[in-house]
Amino acid sequence: MSPKLFQAPRGTNDILPEKQGYWRFFEATARDIAARFGYERIDTPTFEDASLFVRSVGEVTDIVEKETYTFEDRGGNLLTLRPEGTPPVGRAYLQHGMHNQPQPVRLYYLGDFFRYDRPQAGRYRQFHQFGVEVIGEAAASVDSEVIEFALLLLESLGVSEVTLLLNSIGDSHCRPAYIDRLQAYYGSRSDELVHDDCRRRLETNPLRLLDCKTDVCQPLIAAAPGSVDNLCDSCAQHWDALLGDLGALGRSYEIDKRLVRGMDYYSRTVFEIVPPDEGQQSTLGGGGRYDGLIELLGGRPTPGIGFAMGMERVMAAIQESGTPIAEDVGTKVVVAHLGDESRSAGMLLASELRRGGVAVVPAPAGRSLKSQLRYASSIRATHAVIIGDRELEKGTVVLRDLAGSEQREVGRDELRALLEGH
Ligand code: AMP
Repeated sequence: MSPKLFQAPRGTNDILPEKQGYWRFFEATARDIAARFGYERIDTPTFEDASLFVRSVGEVTDIVEKETYTFEDRGGNLLTLRPEGTPPVGRAYLQHGMHNQPQPVRLYYLGDFFRYDRPQAGRYRQFHQFGVEVIGEAAASVDSEVIEFALLLLESLGVSEVTLLLNSIGDSHCRPAYIDRLQAYYGSRSDELVHDDCRRRLETNPLRLLDCKTDVCQPLIAAAPGSVDNLCDSCAQHWDALLGDLGALGRSYEIDKRLVRGMDYYSRTVFEIVPPDEGQQSTLGGGGRYDGLIELLGGRPTPGIGFAMGMERVMAAIQESGTPIAEDVGTKVVVAHLGDESRSAGMLLASELRRGGVAVVPAPAGRSLKSQLRYASSIRATHAVIIGDRELEKGTVVLRDLAGSEQREVGRDELRALLEGH
């Protein structure tokens, strides 16, 4: 009996060669937009001390309660595969003294993240995010900047049919009173809270009642008091300034009171970007202010804002939008040979050409010339270089242009000049 074939673990994806073009396009575009906005790249480790996420993402959130991959390593350290990017970036900001640099610090990252979610279309256990963080500036002008960044990036990727959903959840001055109002409202209708999770949230995390996705909760949410109607003066000014900026930038938005964050260190702006056929798993990206996070991680009180985009979801949207992805059109040569002696001459020629910057792939050994040329077409080579006994003797090769199917005999120097100058 043959052994069972392995499958990739549930909720993970192989990114096959034919899809790599989309990923390269995303990365190149993201790098370009980041440069235009003056953001610098940061890479943080794939795993961190488990307590970083417990402290920052919070024990009573779904992410830390049910979704982290946490394990003890052989030295007894409790580690967590990063479920999101902001706490590691905040940690790095403090660890490397970025708070001593001129503020704000503008950073972006791109990498894989891990959540033990129930896998379905657009929801994976290992997924990729592109994200930005602006740390050290409280003004609403950076809120509009990161939103503009996210929208311009999507536009540049050919994904422009999106809706910007926006909310402000106030700050530590006005939120407690708002939460009291929300609790009083839900308390008076608690018999309509049919889910255990929602009843529990009424006590532990009332804001999260507003982002319940179940149908029964929707009428309750629709009639609930909204946070933007309960802001203190300074939060209201911040909110007005943000809406003013977005108006000036010509960006439309929908105010959505269901957009909340459960943790105290989040404040003011919260936003999401959704495609037009909004489904639960379709949010392309989201972000918001986290003015209390850096202090929670042991730093001085420092404001911050960021967003993260799900790369798999954006990639699916790019494919749907039909954005043409440029193929690699560089010269690619297959060296075909007839006989053993010419094989070793071919190997040396390949090595020489590679040093000159040309992409060279050897044809499969021990096959007919026809089969070697078929292989060259299958890997989308632009040229074949054919060496047989006759060419070996004369010190020449046959250069075949695979697009035009023309071929001619050329000397080695001419060959290099032709291919390297391409
Ligand atoms: P969040 O950090 O939860 O705000 O997520 C930011 C973005 O990452 C979401 O809008 C999604 O596009 C993407 N995302 C979050 N969780 C997953 C997941 N499990 N699988 C794929 N994409 C995800």
